[in-house]
Amino acid sequence: MNNWIEKIYKLLFPERCILCDDVIANDAPFCSDCYQLWSKQQKDECVLCGKSLHECECIRLQSIKQSVFLFWYSGEALKSLIYRQKSFLCSKTNRFFATLMVNEIRSKIEPNKKGELPFEVITYVPRSKKAVVKNGYDQAAELAKELSKQLNIPCVCLVTRKRGGQQQKKLGYTVRLANIKGVFHPNELCKSYKSVLLIDDVVTTGATINAVADALKNGGVRNVYCAAIAKTQQTFRRKPKAEKL
Ligand SMILES: [Zn+2]
Ligand SMILES: [Zn+2]
Repeated sequence: MNNWIEKIYKLLFPERCILCDDVIANDAPFCSDCYQLWSKQQKDECVLCGKSLHECECIRLQSIKQSVFLFWYSGEALKSLIYRQKSFLCSKTNRFFATLMVNEIRSKIEPNKKGELPFEVITYVPRSKKAVVKNGYDQAAELAKELSKQLNIPCVCLVTRKRGGQQQKKLGYTVRLANIKGVFHPNELCKSYKSVLLIDDVVTTGATINAVADALKNGGVRNVYCAAIAKTQQTFRRKPKAEKL
């Protein structure tokens, strides 16, 4: 009986490729065409320092103890997948990214003395209210909730966004820093946690994620780890003066 229900369900809701939405036979994330596109898209090294994604420190995350990224923010396939994750909620895409992140977190972040992951709670960079209303959800929050399920660590909102600020997308680092100042505020719950994993989708200059980490620390958190799907390749070196801002 259950088999029949499953068969009918699969007929009504077949598995689809998370990139092009074509129906696929198995429960893989991609159809074969998209898989080819996906598998050849990553650059190995940072264009500035020549280091790998994990070793490159061209984005300064001074308020973060350790960070984990899955990909460089490059390639048509990844960009369109992140765009889809941002624009309409697809639980399969969300699970796909979260599972990759869980593996990366477990392999890169050093466990504590008890052999457990060194953070007690997961939180996220909150979107502006305007963006949440527009899309109907907050993609970083959805990603954090899925990670929470897979890691069995609670997900708690610890930071509020007071005002939207200008959209960060087209701004340079120094302007971003000024723009983001005073936007994030810790809530009372921060006092209950010493160590937090902060989730975002894409880290561009690091200004936003640093600002959220600072807010968490102002609220009483000691260590902030971060994990994101992708980080942007930096194309020029910032002057040391701008970095100190
Ligand atoms: Zn496809
Ligand atoms: Zn680099």
